[in-house]
Amino acid sequence: MSGHLIQKIVIDPAVEETPLVRRILAEKGNLPVESRAWTSTDWADIPLHLGKRILYVTGRPGGLVKPCPATNPPYLCCRYITIHAMTQCPFDCTYCVLQGYLERPVITLFADPKPIFKEIDALRRAKPGRFFRFGTGELADSLALDDMTGLSEDYLRFFRNRRNALIELKTKSVRIENLPDPAPRNAVISWSVNPQSVIAREELRAPSLADRLDAAKRCRDAGYLIGFHFDPVLLMEDGEARYREVVRQIFSRIDPGRIAWISLGSLRFPAEYRKIMQKRFPHARILDGEMIRGLDGKMRYLRPLRVEMYRKIYGWIRDAAPDVFVYFCMESPAVWNAVTGGHPESNAELDFRFARSLWERFGREIRMDEPRRDAYRAS
Ligand code: SF4
Repeated sequence: MSGHLIQKIVIDPAVEETPLVRRILAEKGNLPVESRAWTSTDWADIPLHLGKRILYVTGRPGGLVKPCPATNPPYLCCRYITIHAMTQCPFDCTYCVLQGYLERPVITLFADPKPIFKEIDALRRAKPGRFFRFGTGELADSLALDDMTGLSEDYLRFFRNRRNALIELKTKSVRIENLPDPAPRNAVISWSVNPQSVIAREELRAPSLADRLDAAKRCRDAGYLIGFHFDPVLLMEDGEARYREVVRQIFSRIDPGRIAWISLGSLRFPAEYRKIMQKRFPHARILDGEMIRGLDGKMRYLRPLRVEMYRKIYGWIRDAAPDVFVYFCMESPAVWNAVTGGHPESNAELDFRFARSLWERFGREIRMDEPRRDAYRAS
């Protein structure tokens, strides 16, 4: 039970009678519960390391389904759609951009998924020719508190009959108990991965690599499609051997035929977050490498260094899994070219390639129509 991650629950009285709150109260164990509506002044003085131990459940009428805010040209974006059902995370990664991005230090969960479901349907209906990938893991970890919230079940049940859509639950956790078994057809459960030495040093309170891969294997055995995110890839001594070992461990447990996609992304963060990271984690090694400010204002490793490490990881993945869809998160066309020999012409083209790969590999299983390029260009 995720009680070790959370120390207190605060419930806004306005949502006390919702099914989600009833479920949390039934699963909370010995955790103390407070009933009150919080405002920004109430949490203004809560330091982040304590806020990450508090789960605040409240309401919000809408505006929680948005295109991924990840990047601007020239960096390519896959046009992922993010669902902000929860914000903030009980894990504490030294490199996490949420440290600077989110105003609230407490984990905030919006109790009623219905407005979110309405927004998802509106988006799907407005563009029936597109296949949408949605995910709850952009401003939170999709499963870290799932044994208490049971949110995954609500979302997977909702998506089960949605035709031109799929949901990805992205996590570093092993809280997969509530995932339906057998799996619904249009769900991908994905894990962020890094060498165990990085997990131990930089991903505080998050499960080990071996535990994540065991959870992935159990999901795969239940019929789920699986994803992996090498993100952020960090430069380090012996990095080549360590990342090679991660790739080896993945493919020793999971057959490539059930892996929907793998992403690669190097460490990046808005320049102004450096001070926050240094202050919160003075001993962290992530800021040691030489970085430059990109055209989107984010700090990144120098391009030749990114290309060198991507080439290796990409090559090992391709050796083990020639057909798996591999993409770069927030990378430039020049980097795509240098690593893969080509690049999508636009965000729409990358989105289309995603859909095409899903259709070719799993189209019948996830009941997907053949994607047409013009439907992606037009939207
Ligand atoms: S698991 Fe993800 S969201 Fe949570 S602290 Fe780490 S990087 Fe941030």
